[in-house]
Amino acid sequence: LTVSITGATGFIGRRLVRRLNADNHNIRVLTRSKSKAKLIFPAREFPGIVIAEEPGWKDCIQGSDGVVNLAGMPISTRWSSEIKKEIKQSRIRVTSKVVRLINNAPDAARPTVLVSSTAVGYYGTSETAIFDERSPSGNDYLAEVCREWEATALGVNKNVRVALIRIGVVLGKEGGALAKMIPLFMMYAGGPMGSGKQWFSWIHLDDIVDLIYEALINPSYKGVINGTAPNPVKLSELCERLGAAMGRPSWLPVPDFALKAVLGDGASVVLEGQRVVPARAKELGFSFKYPSVKDALKAILS
Ligand code: NDP
Repeated sequence: LTVSITGATGFIGRRLVRRLNADNHNIRVLTRSKSKAKLIFPAREFPGIVIAEEPGWKDCIQGSDGVVNLAGMPISTRWSSEIKKEIKQSRIRVTSKVVRLINNAPDAARPTVLVSSTAVGYYGTSETAIFDERSPSGNDYLAEVCREWEATALGVNKNVRVALIRIGVVLGKEGGALAKMIPLFMMYAGGPMGSGKQWFSWIHLDDIVDLIYEALINPSYKGVINGTAPNPVKLSELCERLGAAMGRPSWLPVPDFALKAVLGDGASVVLEGQRVVPARAKELGFSFKYPSVKDALKAILS
């Protein structure tokens, strides 16, 4: 396949590119910075990779079989009103550009599938509800971002198959929330955060990459698909498992302010949270390599 990817230089994108490259697919990286992307994807390791800045995205998208859209400003910062605006606008901007380029491509050169990221923040937060793909959206800021982001992706030509992946907190060594949380656990020896009763809907990096890959190649993957592991956990359990996996006793609670210091207002994703289940992925027969957080953390921290 020939696949164009926005956000390819990010935490999830890098791993996806590696995966596609290992299977000999043709990769086109759509980035804001060609020089940065070239350092991340050196030609000797990624032969044949195409890296394009605007206005080169058009030529990449035309003739691609599929497009994966992962771009967006990171949310783990302090949310001033300007940053809040950019968290939303960066996603809408890139998504609408991608949609426009797909729609404007001649029929014969139009990609047949768009896999676009969104987040479990769509559902809002709750300590009691269980959310699957049919659940309604929440009414906080991140829910609004996700609704608009998804609606923008759905503006694509009706002949293009769209998979919207509502991603949970991605666990991996090289980035994301976990990499930022680990130093806190070292400092506080891994106690719970806040009340610990909040739900934490996570997914291992390898599984989210597999799910995106599957959505690219399998025509049954259509519409909204939650990108979360089948066993979300309470924050207290995450902290306990993390402490155990790191060989540190769980005794001093990590104060919320410490988490906010590393994740900014993005800490709300961890400190509020929601219990999301991957109903569609199960129906589709997707097999999770890491269904339990214990095994996921063990694999990451080993
Ligand atoms: P990253 O933050 O690692 O990377 C996203 C990419 O987006 C960057 O590499 C960059 O690509 C591009 N980007 C960054 N800022 C901007 C901006 N202001 N305007 C346009 N493009 C920008 O993201 P992840 O890999 O962690 O996640 C991918 C997507 O999945 C994101 O949209 C994220 O919101 C979503 N998601 C991630 C979760 C997670 O736990 N990681 C959880 C839920 C959703 P370049 O510099 O090459 O242009």
